[in-house]
Amino acid sequence: MSQTIPATLIPGDGIGPEIVEATLAALDALGAPFEWDRQIAGLEGVTTAGDPLPQATLDSIRRTRLALKGPLETPSGGGYRSSNVRLREEFKLYANLRPALTIVPGGRYDKIDLVVVRENLEGLYIGHEHFVQIDDDPHAVAMATGINTRAGCRHILEYAFEHAIATGRKKVTIVHKANIMKALTGIFKETAEQMYEAKYKDRIAMDTIIVDACAMKLVLNPWQFDVLVTTNLFGDILSDLVAGLVGGLGMAPGANIGADAAIFEAVHGSAPDIAGQNKANPTALLLAAAMMLDHVKLTDMATRLRQAIDATLNIDLVRTGDLGGSASTTVFTQALVNRI
Ligand code: NAD
Repeated sequence: MSQTIPATLIPGDGIGPEIVEATLAALDALGAPFEWDRQIAGLEGVTTAGDPLPQATLDSIRRTRLALKGPLETPSGGGYRSSNVRLREEFKLYANLRPALTIVPGGRYDKIDLVVVRENLEGLYIGHEHFVQIDDDPHAVAMATGINTRAGCRHILEYAFEHAIATGRKKVTIVHKANIMKALTGIFKETAEQMYEAKYKDRIAMDTIIVDACAMKLVLNPWQFDVLVTTNLFGDILSDLVAGLVGGLGMAPGANIGADAAIFEAVHGSAPDIAGQNKANPTALLLAAAMMLDHVKLTDMATRLRQAIDATLNIDLVRTGDLGGSASTTVFTQALVNRI
C-alpha cells in the first residue's frame, strides 16, 4: 500500500495506553496505512500541558479529520468539562454510532445485532446547568436546560435512516419521551414522523417507542430491534444497556461522525480500577478501529480484523477476565496478531 492516511492518535487515560498499544499492534499486522500523529487529552493533557484538550490536539484533528482515541478521564461533579463533549462540539460530531453485535456466544443473549444511533450535540448534554442559592444552601436548587433543534433532529434522523438503508437494515425505531417532555423530545418524534412520511416510507420500516418501554423491551426481547435512534441522554444510557447484551463494555465500539471529522473510540471509560494491570480487554477499541477502516473504505482490512477477533475469542478461546477468561491484554493481543 503506497498511500498513507494521516490520523490523530490519542492514547488517553487509565487503560487507554494499554488498549491503544494492542490496537496499533493489530493495525500494524494488517498493514493498515495510517500515519499517526500522537496527541494528548484528558487527564494526561492536564498533567502534561495544563489543558484537558490542548490546542495541538485540536489542530491535529482539524488537519487529519480522523482520530482513534483512548478513553479520557472526566472528574465527576466539579473540575474540568469533559474533553469528549468538547471534541464533539468542536468538530460537530453530531452522530454517535454504537453497534452491538454478539461475538462471544453462549451469554444470556445470543445473536444480537443492533445499532444505537445517538444524537451527540444537543439535548440535556449541552451543559447549561446552574445551582440556585436559598438561604445558606448554595446548592438548594439544581437546574439544567436541554435544547433540541429542528435542524439537529433532521441531521441525526437523516443519518440514521441513510445508515440503516446503506447497511441493509430493516427497521428504524425512534426512541423518545414525548409523553412527558413534550417539547424537548416531542420535536424529535415529530421531525422523525415528518421525515419518514416525506422521504423514507417506501424504503424502510419505522416505529416509535417511549424510552422507558424501550429499555424494558431491550432486556426482554432485544431481537425485535434493528436500528434505534434517539436524543443525546437516552442514547448514552441505552447504548451502555445494549453493550451489556453483548458481553459488557469491553466489547462495545463507538464512532463519532460529523461534518468536519470522525473520531473512533471504545464506549467504555478509562477503567481506573484495572489501569496498568495488563487486564483490560482491548476488543472494544479494536472494533472501533474496524469501524475506522470501514470509514476510510478499507473494508477488506476491517473484515479481516473482525474475523481475527472472532477467531481469537471463539476458536483459540483466548479471552480477558471480563469475558470469564484469564488472558492478559498482551497475551490476547499476541494471539490476535497471530490470527491476522
Ligand atoms: P468505565 O467504563 O471506565 O469502567 C466501568 C467498569 O467496566 C469498570 O469496572 C471497568 O474496570 C470495566 N471496564 C471498562 N472497560 C473495560 C475493558 N476494556 N476491559 C475490562 N473491563 C473494562 O467507567 P467509569 O469507571 O465510570 O469511568 C472512569 C472514567 O472514564 C471517568 O473519568 C469517566 O468520565 C471516563 N469515561 C470516559 C469515556 C470516554 O472517554 N469516551 C467514556 C466513559 C467514561
